[in-house]
Amino acid sequence: MKHTFRRLMAVLLGLTLLPGIVAAAETQTVEGKANGMGEVRVELTVEDGRITEARVDVSHETPGFGLDHADEFAQQLLDAQGADIDGVSGCTITTNAVKAAAAQALANAGIAAEEKAMTPGVYVGSAMGAKSEVKVAVQVNEDQTVRVWPLESNDTAVFSRDAVIAVTKAIEDAQSLAVDVYSGATLTSNAAILAVANAIESAGGDPIAWRVAQPKEKTQGENVEVDVLVVGGGTSGLTAAISAKTDSSLGLTDSGLKVLVVERNSFAGGDMNYSGGYVATPSGNPLSAATGVELSPEDVTRDMLALNPAAADFASEELSRKVWSAGPATITGLMNRGFHMSVEDAKVVSLNGHPMTAAFTQDPVTGYRCGDEWWDAMTGAPYEGWTLQHAAEDAGVEIRLNTEATGLVIENNVCLGVNVEDRESYYTITAKKVILATGYAGWDPESVEMFYPELSNVTGANNPGNHSDAQKWMVAMGGETVYYPESNYIVPVYNPVLRDNYEFGWIFQKGHTLWVNSQGSRFFDESAILNMGLTDIGAQLCTLEDGQAWMIFDSNNADCARFADELIGYGVAWSAASVEELAQKTGLPADALKATLDAYNASCESGVDEAFGTPADFMTPVTGETLYAARIVPGFTASVAVTLYCDDDMTITLTKGGQRIENLLGAGGVVGNMVPVAGFGAHVYEALSSGTLAGEIARTAILAQ
Ligand SMILES: Cc1cc2nc3c(=O)[nH]c(=O)nc-3n(C[C@H](O)[C@H](O)[C@H](O)COP(=O)(O)OP(=O)(O)OC[C@H]3O[C@@H](n4cnc5c(N)ncnc54)[C@H](O)[C@@H]3O)c2cc1C
Repeated sequence: MKHTFRRLMAVLLGLTLLPGIVAAAETQTVEGKANGMGEVRVELTVEDGRITEARVDVSHETPGFGLDHADEFAQQLLDAQGADIDGVSGCTITTNAVKAAAAQALANAGIAAEEKAMTPGVYVGSAMGAKSEVKVAVQVNEDQTVRVWPLESNDTAVFSRDAVIAVTKAIEDAQSLAVDVYSGATLTSNAAILAVANAIESAGGDPIAWRVAQPKEKTQGENVEVDVLVVGGGTSGLTAAISAKTDSSLGLTDSGLKVLVVERNSFAGGDMNYSGGYVATPSGNPLSAATGVELSPEDVTRDMLALNPAAADFASEELSRKVWSAGPATITGLMNRGFHMSVEDAKVVSLNGHPMTAAFTQDPVTGYRCGDEWWDAMTGAPYEGWTLQHAAEDAGVEIRLNTEATGLVIENNVCLGVNVEDRESYYTITAKKVILATGYAGWDPESVEMFYPELSNVTGANNPGNHSDAQKWMVAMGGETVYYPESNYIVPVYNPVLRDNYEFGWIFQKGHTLWVNSQGSRFFDESAILNMGLTDIGAQLCTLEDGQAWMIFDSNNADCARFADELIGYGVAWSAASVEELAQKTGLPADALKATLDAYNASCESGVDEAFGTPADFMTPVTGETLYAARIVPGFTASVAVTLYCDDDMTITLTKGGQRIENLLGAGGVVGNMVPVAGFGAHVYEALSSGTLAGEIARTAILAQ
C-alpha cells in the first residue's frame, strides 16, 4: 500500500502540492486519531483551507506528561495552521500522536501535506524506550518502500524484544507508521515507531505523513463455542484455565473440555509481569518444606481476617478458607509444570505473629531474581508470566492474545458468553462457564473517574491491560462494587511513565533531602520518611493539590547525586548552577524556592528546624556547586481494590448475597475483596489459588452435566 493512499488523496482532489497545506474551499469539522500512550484525538474546524478551531483530546495520556497539555497542543495547531507543530518538550510520544492525528484530520478534510521523496539508502534511527534506546535500521528503496530491521533494545527483557520485532514487522508490512502498538508495551512500541520515523526523516521523508492512519474497518468474525471461557490471561486466569483443562492439582489428567483464554494484551501473565515476585504460602508444598514452617490454611484464613477487620462486612470466611486450601496443591502443581519458585530462597515471614513461608519467583535462564533490598517493577517477574502461559498451552488451553472482551452476553441472569474484538474482527464466544479474571484496578481514565476519582493524581504501575472491565460490566447491570481503601498501595515514584517505582526507592530514605511542593515550599518533616512506609509517603503526596513534589539536593549529597544523571536521563530530574536556573527548569516559583532554600540552609546551620521540627541529622544543606531537583509523584503499584461480590462457589452476584449471574465466575482481583489478604506475596498466592478453585468449580459442574 505504501504511499498510495497519500498520493491518491492528492491526485483525486486535484491539489497542487505546495509547501504547507492546500485545501478544498468549504467549512468542515474533521477528526483524526493516533496512538500516543493511549488514543489521541484531534478535531479541527477548517474554513476555506484555514484551521479556525482545534480541539485535542489527550485524556488517555499520562498525568504530569501529555495529559496536561491539551490546550497548548490545540493552540500550536492553530498557530502552525497545520500538523507540523513543535509540541511539548518531554512529551515526545503525545506530541507525535497529536501531529499524526492532526495530519489525519487534515487528510480527511482533503488537505494533503507536501509529499517529500526519500533518498534511497540505509538509515539508522533511534528513540528512547522504557529504559533504553531502541535502535532500528531502515532501508529506503528506489520505489520509496522501506525495509526495517530491529537493531537494539534493552528495555524490559521479555516484552521489549517481542514488541520491537512485532512493531517493526507491522511497519514493514503496512508501509506505514500508523500501526498498532504491542499492547502492554506502549513505551517500547512507540520508541520503535519513533526510531523508524527518525530514520525516515534522515532519509528526507515526512514522518508525519507516514503516521496518517488508513481507515480500517473491523469485520464480523466467526463465532466460537467452548466449554470454559476465561476472560483475562493473567495470574488467576491462566491458572483457572489450566485447572479447567486438567484437575484440581493441575496434574496430567486432560478433562477433555475445550478451554479458551482471551487476553487483551499482546502477551499473557497480567500483573505477574510487574509484581515484586513474592509468593506467600501455608504449608503443604516444596516451599514450606524448605522452611519447615507448619501453617494450615485454616490458620491463615483466621489471621487474614483478623488482619483486615474492616473486611468483615463483605469478605467471605468460607471462600477465604477454600482459596487458602487450594493453594498448596496449586503451588506444587505449577512447580511441576515449570513455574519456578526459588525453594532455596524460601524464607520465614511473619503473619500476625506466626511464622509463614514466602518465596521469590526467579528467572531460571538469567538467574535474575527480585532483589533483596529493592526490586524493579518493570522487570518484576515476567518470566513467570511466560511460564504460566506455556504451562497453559502445554495443558491444551487455547490462548488468544490481542483479543479483548467487550461485553457479556447475559440472558435472564445467565451468562451465555462474551463478545470479543481482535485487531481485525469482532465475534461472540459462547461458553458453558465464563470465568472473569480481568484483574484488580484499571488505571485507564474511565476507571479512575468511575471508581477512584480521589486518586486521579496517581499513576498506575500495574498491567496496562487492566481496565476494571468486570466491575464496569456489573455496574452497568445495576450491580455494586466493593471498595477496600485499606488495600490501596500508593507509593512515591520518580517517573509515572517509566514506572520506576523501586529502583531508586532507597534514596527517599538515605538521601536526607529537602522536599518542596509545586509552590516551592516545604510541606512536611522529611525525616518522617525514615519511619513512614512508602505507602504513607505516597499518601502525603496525595494530599498535595497536584500530587507533585520535588526532592532538592546538591552535588555534595553523594547518596543522591550518584543517581542524578540517570534520573535526568529519564526526564524526571534537572540540574542547575543556580536556584534561579533550577526554578526555571522545573517551573517552580523562583522567589519561593530561594526563600525555602535560604530558610532550610539556615536551619541546617543552626541545627533547629522551627518550621517542621526535622532533626538536624536529617537535614543536608543544599549549597553545592550543582543543584538538583527530582520530581516525585504518587504511583500505584499493586492492588487498589474495587472488586465484585461472589457467592462461595465463586459465582458473581450483583450485590452482596444478591442476584447470582449463573455460569459467571470470578477469580483473582475481580473478586479479591471477598478473600482479604495482607502481607508479602499474598496477592499472587490468592490469584493463583482462586484461579485453581474457579477452574475446578467450572470443570466439575460441566462434567457433572
Ligand atoms: C508492581 C506490582 C508489584 C506487586 N508485587 C506483589 C508481590 O510481591 N506479591 C504479591 O502477592 N502480589 C504482588 N502484586 C499483586 C499481584 O501481582 C496481583 O494481585 C495479581 O497478580 C493479580 O492477578 P489477577 O489474575 O487478578 O490479575 P492480572 O494478573 O492482572 O490479570 C488480569 C488480566 O486480564 C487482562 N484483561 C483485562 N481486561 C480484559 C478484557 N476486557 N479482555 C481481555 N483481557 C483482559 C489483563 O490484560 C491481564 O492480563 C503486585 C502488583 C504490582 C502491579
